[in-house]
Amino acid sequence: MIQKPRGTIDILPKEAKKWQFIENAARKVCKKHGFGEIRFPTFEETQLFARGVGDTTDVVQKEMYTFIDRDGTSYSLRPEGTASVARSVIENGLASETMPLKLFYIINCFRHERPQAGRYREFYQFGAELFGAATPTADFELISLAADFLDALGITATTLHINSIGCPSCRPNYKNALVAYFSERRDELCDTCKVRLDTNPLRILDCKSPVCSEICKNAPKTIDYLCQDCSAHFDGLKARLGVSGIRYNIDPHIVRGLDYYSRTVFEFISEGIGAQSTVCGGGRYDGLVSQIGGPELAGIGFAAGINRLILSMENGSAYKEEEEFVDLYIAALGESASVKATGICAVLRSKGFTAETDMVGRSLKAQMKYANKINAKYTLIIGDGEIETGKAQIRKMENGQQTEINIEDIAAIISELSAK
Ligand code: ATP
Ligand code: MG
Repeated sequence: MIQKPRGTIDILPKEAKKWQFIENAARKVCKKHGFGEIRFPTFEETQLFARGVGDTTDVVQKEMYTFIDRDGTSYSLRPEGTASVARSVIENGLASETMPLKLFYIINCFRHERPQAGRYREFYQFGAELFGAATPTADFELISLAADFLDALGITATTLHINSIGCPSCRPNYKNALVAYFSERRDELCDTCKVRLDTNPLRILDCKSPVCSEICKNAPKTIDYLCQDCSAHFDGLKARLGVSGIRYNIDPHIVRGLDYYSRTVFEFISEGIGAQSTVCGGGRYDGLVSQIGGPELAGIGFAAGINRLILSMENGSAYKEEEEFVDLYIAALGESASVKATGICAVLRSKGFTAETDMVGRSLKAQMKYANKINAKYTLIIGDGEIETGKAQIRKMENGQQTEINIEDIAAIISELSAK
């Protein structure tokens, strides 16, 4: 038996409805906030992610699905969406359009991680990116889009955590303080963090090993090292969150896993879904567009992990499973009846009704059992006799009430189906 690849999922029809619910909520909220949809390739040149995500990040170093194609080019399956969106913005000249530029996407992403609850190798993200606005209002606008989205899903047990990680002018000071702090306890750090201490010390704050997390608790905080501009920016965001009633915690430990962030970083953390509890993460990335060869262009974005949202919906949400039904099931016996039934189904569907007939060759009894299984509201039985007389009984399944109709008279059938 061939099985699906490790860390991937099959989504069957019943489950798919929850996914549609989430995707519809995302589209609706984006429309309300004026974000347009962008679609882009599943794979990109590897160097886009190396430059746009950062080649010292775990995502690029350990988690990418990279392959050399038949022409010898190195490509990678997208591990996230932001770098591709930035590439597309540059390539399509959108950077010279009227700002702000507001885009959203719903995509699958690929990361070679150790699969566990809430962590997959192919997973799904709803993401939004806002370019060309460097103000705290833009930060607020983007965060409020995420908050509105989570609200629409009815997932109430989430908390917004915000932090500021400064900018290229204040981060060096902070980095020095961090290196000094961790160097004193270098021996206790995990092997990965020992390397991070030399390559990218901020990343240590993101480490999930218990020992490193413990050491991180007393590490210097980014917000204590912000320059005046970054500090004012952060105050501006807090003021806007304050007047809008979006509750938040300041969380000095949020640094985000990707390299291109500056200033505002944030996460929405969900309760009761286990260790992988960040359902949405994002931040400002003013250096990204120029980093991958475009003009200087401010940007801020987030991505919400749809798989994790599905898990948090198990703890209650606005999702209600709707009853499935079929308006009419036509039990057909014999070739002529089957042809007639097929025709009636086609006309009914063209008028917006759901209709089905037998395609397995079942007996009448088995067809009626099937009609029950698919929750048919009405059934119509057509056999040789009905074809001869042109008359048949349409039965309301709820109460067994039968009405005789002319099988050529579609209007009569429709009026039965539409009766309350
Ligand atoms: P984590 O710290 O959980 O590894 P991350 O910082 O790597 O997350 P991002 O790159 O910011 O995550 O991606 C945004 C969101 O995508 C995450 O908050 C999470 O909800 C989701 N996500 C990331 N990786 C996975 C994965 N392997 N499986 C399922 N969802 C994921
Ligand atoms: Mg990760």
